[in-house]
Formats: sequence, structure tokens, C-alpha cells
Amino acid sequence: MAKIIDGKGLASRIRAGLKGEVEELKAVGLTPGLAVVLVGEDPASQIYVRSKGKACEAAGIASFQHRLAVETTQGDLLALISRLNEREDVHGILVQLPLPPHIDAEQVLEAINPAKDVDGFHPYNIGRLVAGSPLFQPCTPLGIIKLIESTGVDLRGKDAVVVGRSNIVGKPVAVMLLERDATVTITHSKTRGLREKIRSADIVVAAVGRAGMIAGDWIREGAVVIDVGINRTADGKLVGDVDFDGAEKVAAHITPVPGGVGPMTIAMLLHNTVQAAKRLRKTV
Ligand code: NDP
Repeated sequence: MAKIIDGKGLASRIRAGLKGEVEELKAVGLTPGLAVVLVGEDPASQIYVRSKGKACEAAGIASFQHRLAVETTQGDLLALISRLNEREDVHGILVQLPLPPHIDAEQVLEAINPAKDVDGFHPYNIGRLVAGSPLFQPCTPLGIIKLIESTGVDLRGKDAVVVGRSNIVGKPVAVMLLERDATVTITHSKTRGLREKIRSADIVVAAVGRAGMIAGDWIREGAVVIDVGINRTADGKLVGDVDFDGAEKVAAHITPVPGGVGPMTIAMLLHNTVQAAKRLRKTV
């Protein structure tokens, strides 16, 4: 039976450590601050923004929430970003996605000062990540790496299969696994022989968004399985992309859903905000 990778526990230990670090920074007059911008009233986004605010407060990080009406113009949003870029008490800026269709999300993300881009979505930060000298590592992929590291499994030379190639999870996590000397295969909806590829993997990262699409007998004996997917079943249960009950019998380590990758994402956002505050203080 696989060992369960306790993302909730690891995230709370990381958050406790950050709280201590923030106290030390406050003692020297630096309070890390995170601005979160939400446009419109998407219910899921509202929940995410609220929980990010609460997590900041619990860690002693100042939280500035900007909730804008759905009809906010591109110009007004860019003007807000520009003000946040200038503010000395704001070290991290996060624009909650998705943005309403009349807003050009790419232009908005590019307007964020890369030194405050705690999500790591600015092209400058993506470029640095791919070049091997990251400023910020995007939150969910960084959380995934920390979860793998927590198992004690050495990534060097391991075969890793990433299922999904989105800009926020699949692609960056593949780059980060490569950086740690894994041999990485990135798969997607057009991939042929997905099952065989997964069967040969020491590490599987599933980021698709399809409940239980990876069956237990696709997993190689002794593999590490990181399930990023969040899917709600017809009876309201949250499940991942991997058939947990089947995979648990063969894997060496596996993340649960919920309680695996999810809690790590917010912990990494707080981590990136504290890093940003320390870096900006040194450069101003
Ligand atoms: P996207 O929808 O942006 O990407 C999904 C990827 O899965 C695409 O690359 C797609 O391929 C691929 N895919 C779809 N069907 C198949 C298939 N049959 N076989 C192989 N690949 C397939 O999703 P995200 O990356 O944003 O998110 C993925 C999941 O992770 C979602 O459930 C999301 O809710 C969750 N998530 C969880 C987070 C957390 O904190 N725990 C954070 C972010 C996401 P193609 O490119 O060819 O279309």
C-alpha cells in the first residue's frame, strides 16, 4: 500500500515557518503585502480570493483585496496594476483568473512588475524559469515539487510523465522536473499510448481535470503519484484525475484529493510573497 503524501500537513508546517519569518521581518520594519485583484463575481474565484486573504492574515502578511465590477474596463484595470506596481507596501500582485472575456488577460499579466509577480505567470518569469534561473516558481508546480521532495525520492534520472500541458501546471512543472534531472515526458489530449507511457513512469503528475481517468493498473509498482486534478462527481464528492483506490495499491507514494496539492498552492503563494518582500527591500 502506498504512503499517503500529506499535503495538508506539509502546507501547515510551511505556513507556520513563514509566520515565524514574517514576525522577524516585521521586527525590522518590513511587513510583506499581497494585493489580490478580482474582476467580476465568479463564485469559485470569490472563494479562492477569500481563502488567499485569510491565509495571508494567518501568516501575518498584509492582504489588499481589490474586488472590481465585471464591467471594469481594460484601462481601469491596467491603471490599478500600475498603482500597485508603485506601492511600497505591496510586494506581491495576483490577478485572479479567469478574467471576463472583454479583458485581454495577457496584457494585464504583462503589466505586473515581474518582481511582484508572485504567480510567476509574467513572460519574463516564464523565460527565467525555462532558462534555469527562476525569480518566482509558479505556486502549484512548486507545491508539487515540494510534495515529491517530501517523500525522500531522488528525482535524478527518474522517468517522469506529466499529463496535461497547461501554462499554469503541466508545462511549468515539466520544466521544474527537468531542472531536477528527471527525464520528462509531457502528454496531452493528442498523445498516443498514454497508458503505456504512464506504466513506465517513476513519477506521474496528473493535471487534466477528468475524474479518475488514470486507472490504478496504469500505475507502475513503486511509482510516486501526484494528483493535481480537482473534479466534482455527480454526488458532490471531490476527486482527482487518478483512481485513488486502485493506484494506492501499487504506488509507493500518492497524494489524496482533497488534501494533497490544493493546500500547497496557497502555502507557495505565501512563500513567494515573503520572497518578493525580502528581494524588493534589498533592491530599494
Ligand atoms: P487545463 O484544462 O488548462 O489543461 C488540461 C490539460 O489536460 C490539457 O493540456 C489537455 O490537453 C489535457 N488533457 C485533456 N484530456 C486529456 C486526455 N484524455 N489525455 C491526456 N491529456 C488530456 O487544466 P489545468 O492545467 O488548469 O488544470 C488541470 C486540473 O488541475 C484541473 O482539474 C484543475 O482544477 C486542477 N488544478 C488544481 C490546482 C490546485 O491547486 N490543486 C491548481 C490548478 C489546477 P490539450 O492541451 O491537448 O487540450
